[in-house]
Formats: sequence, C-alpha cells, structure tokens
Amino acid sequence: MTPASNAESAVVGSIVAGAVRLGAHVLPILDPANGCPIGGLSVGDASIAEDAVRAAKQAFGPWRDVPPAQRARILLRFREILGQEKDALARVITREHGKPHVDALGSIQRGVEVVEFAIGTPQLLKGENSDHVATNISTRSARRPVGVCVGITPYNYPAMIPMWMFPMALACGNTFVLKPSEKTPTAANMLADMLARAGVPAGVFNVVHGGRDVAEALISHADVSAVSFVGSSPVAKNVYETATRHGKRVQALGGAKNHAIVMPDADMDLTVDAVCNGAFNSAGQRCMAIAVVVTVGNSHESFVSKLCQRAMTLKVAAGTDAECYVPPLSSHEQYKKVLSYVETGEREGAELVLDRRNPEEARNSGGNFVGPVIFDHVRQDMSIYREEIFGPVLVVMNAPDLEGAIDIANGHPLANGAVLFTGSGVSAQKFEREIQCGMPGVNVPVPSPVAYYSFGGSKGSIFGDLAAHGPDAIRFYTRTQVLTTRWS
Ligand code: NAD
Repeated sequence: MTPASNAESAVVGSIVAGAVRLGAHVLPILDPANGCPIGGLSVGDASIAEDAVRAAKQAFGPWRDVPPAQRARILLRFREILGQEKDALARVITREHGKPHVDALGSIQRGVEVVEFAIGTPQLLKGENSDHVATNISTRSARRPVGVCVGITPYNYPAMIPMWMFPMALACGNTFVLKPSEKTPTAANMLADMLARAGVPAGVFNVVHGGRDVAEALISHADVSAVSFVGSSPVAKNVYETATRHGKRVQALGGAKNHAIVMPDADMDLTVDAVCNGAFNSAGQRCMAIAVVVTVGNSHESFVSKLCQRAMTLKVAAGTDAECYVPPLSSHEQYKKVLSYVETGEREGAELVLDRRNPEEARNSGGNFVGPVIFDHVRQDMSIYREEIFGPVLVVMNAPDLEGAIDIANGHPLANGAVLFTGSGVSAQKFEREIQCGMPGVNVPVPSPVAYYSFGGSKGSIFGDLAAHGPDAIRFYTRTQVLTTRWS
C-alpha cells in the first residue's frame, strides 16, 4: 500500500521509508461531535520507531547533499500540492479534532506560511567569511544539518504544528520522524503523502504513530540528533530532561494560561469580541487561548456583564455546522477533565457567572460539547487559576491598576502569551516592557507570531532556548561549523 492509498482510509498506519507499517493493535478514532467511530489508528511500537530512525539515517547523506535551492524547489511543489488539497486536509481535521472547517483551513494556512519561509532557507544558510585572518589564511562559517530530527506533536493542530517543524528541518538538509498525537493522526499521513508527491525521497520524512512508548523510543535513540516537542508542560519538561540526558538538542514547547488585561479605556465592544474569540473559539483548545481576564479598576462589573451576554449567544455546534463558534472538545477524556474543573471551581468558591457546561443545542448528541463557562472573583490560589484547563472555561479577576494586573500575570508559572486591551500607548508601552511572557499582544485576541518570527513562550511554557519556526528554527536545525583554510 502506498502512503497515498493509506492517507484517508479507515485504518491509519505508520509510514516508514515510504511504505505503510501496521502495528499490533488498532485504537478507534471517534467523532468528537457524536462519539461514533470514524476510523482506526494502527498503533506503532518501538520496532517501527527503530525502523523509522534507520530509514531517516540512511536517507540523511543523500538529502544533505541535495543543493539547498533544489530542496527549496521540492518544498515549493509541496506548497502547491498543499494549496490544492487544503480543503480535504481541513475536512479530516474537522472530522477528528472537531473544530470548524474555517478554523481548520486557517491553521493550515499558518502552516503554509512556514513552508513559504522554509523555501527561503538557502539565503538563511549562508555563513560568514573573513578573508586573510592571518597570512594566506581565511576563516568561514557554514550551517550544517544536524541529522535525524524527531517531532512529537499535540492533538489540537494536527497539520500546523508538524508544519512548524518539518519544512524547516527538511529545508536545512535534515531527515525527519514525526510522532503525531494519537487523537488526531490522519493529517500527518496526508502531509507525508503530499511530500512524497512533491519529490521528497523515501525515508526523508517518516511518520510513526503511537503514544508515550513510541515517543520515548524516539527521543532516547542514539541516531536521533534533535527533538522538537509541542504539548503539555509536564510532558514537555519530561521530554526535555530525557532527550537532553541522551545528548539531543531539544526544543520543548509546553502549556499555557494566557492572561488578557482589560483597561478601563479599552474599546469595550471590541474587547468583548476579542476575549470571546480568544477564550471560546476552538473550545479553548489553543495554546494561545485567553484563559484569564484581569480587569483593571472599576470597569469590572460592566465588562463582565457584557462578556456574559455575548458568550451566552455563541453557537455551540459540530464543526461541520457553518455557524459553529464553540465546537466539541476533541476527546471524551478532555471533556471529562474540563467538566471536573468546572466542579472544582464551584467547590473552590469562585462565582459561576455563566454556566453553559451542558449546552441545550448539543444535549443528547453524544458529543463532547461544553459551552462557554465564566468564573468571576477567582483567586490566584485556586486550581482553576493555577492549572491549564484547555477548554472553554474563562476565569476573571480584578486588579486596582495596570501594575497589579501585570504582577498577577507575571506571577503565573506558565507564560506563553498575554494581551492588553487599552486605548493608551503609555499603558501599552509599560505592558510590553514589563510582561514576562514570550508572545505579548496589544488589542488582538491571539498574538501568534507570523512564520518569519519564532513562536515560543517563556518560563514553564518552554524548555530549551530556541522556539519554533522563524529564525530560531534555522539555528535549531543546523549546527555551525567554522572552517580555517590556508592556501600558499
Ligand atoms: P500532551 O502533552 O498530552 O501530548 C503531546 C504529545 O506528546 C502527543 O503526541 C503524545 O502522544 C505525546 N506524549 C504524551 N505523553 C508523553 C510522554 N510521557 N513522553 C513523550 N511523549 C508523550 O498534549 P496534548 O493533550 O496532545 O495537547 C494539548 C497541550 O499542548 C496543551 O497543554 C497545550 O497548551 C499544548 N500546546 C502548546 C503549544 C505551544 O506552542 N506551546 C501549542 C499547541 C498545544
């Protein structure tokens, strides 16, 4: 079976050196909107992981020696194929993840932009040159690929996050083994199929499906040079520690608890819309989702009241419904986790000001639907504030001034993004200088950097020094060599 024939078939297998490999057992893939089986994942194992690394190692030398401009041309063809097939890819993402088609398309577009950046890699691989550092001696630096790279990715962006990684790794001359989330596996096979059709030789890009055991086999493998991980913070920390112990370079992006600070001078209608988008779109399953609102000063009551009125109207529906705003959670496990946090919030004494945890539209559907939930008067010691919920649950608090609001945000161990809503440039400037997260924004719901900047948080939201895509990716997927030569 070719990867193409396997890509959208009922059972999804791993892809090693261009051929489909099936594991010993099959996990059902369930439709988040009704809980019905829609396919199966043939779970890989350590021996498939071993074969994938071997294939990537064998493919490395020839791929490294393909001129960078020719690798870029292959990625250009991949980008064209992606453009033709984005609708089919988005449909698969909607089916397995649950998010609306338009959001799935938007996320693919963010991946396409990384491919476009990767096509310019030959320019970024250029080194430095110093002629005549001593008599007849010159020195130059070159960026060399690191070898076999591994990517381990989360369920919420099954095409975009792999595309943060492999276009850059491949453009730099590396080969790649992707271990996608077992919850949303099919997009990875579709991408593998498109890469093969674009001209990427067998073995340069491999996919091994499975869970923790497969990930561990890959990150401890002697022939793997670099590990890119995106997922929750405890797993990111663990992957970082294990992989660095085995001598790999690692970039491990973790979870988030993004704060939105709302100043009394903000445009309230715009801010309410932006906070709803940030908090409830994709049912809050975005690493840049707004999870906490800190209002400043005495606009608190009116803002919370407007926010609840607006969140009350957001349509909770399957991602296939063109009017869907809040889709189902992707898995039943995540659904139960989110509901248990709502119960915890009530027990902890937060005030439940909007409770759509059992939305009428989706009742009896069998799907993982949770509508917008808003807690007010939340304290920093509550677990609904401290922990990442990753669902449509927003916690709200108040600070007397901007200083106090920034202190709250900076006190949280997770620091991916944060946004300030204000009409004042002076407040914006203070926020930009003092906020400690990796990706701050002003008057935007989701301040995700474009592909030619790097994407990554700080503190407990990232382990390792280099972030995803953009200039950091060139540094991560290459090592610098400095050559000294004499001709006399
Ligand atoms: P997760 O951490 O459960 O899983 C991520 C990946 O790691 C999956 O492929 C999974 O199979 C694998 N995995 C699980 N346990 C492992 C272990 N012990 N060792 C090695 N690999 C292991 O995350 P998820 O539930 O799939 O995704 C949601 C999380 O990802 C949220 O915390 C979210 O904030 C985070 N996320 C972060 C970013 C970012 O850019 N920082 C982007 C998207 C998602």
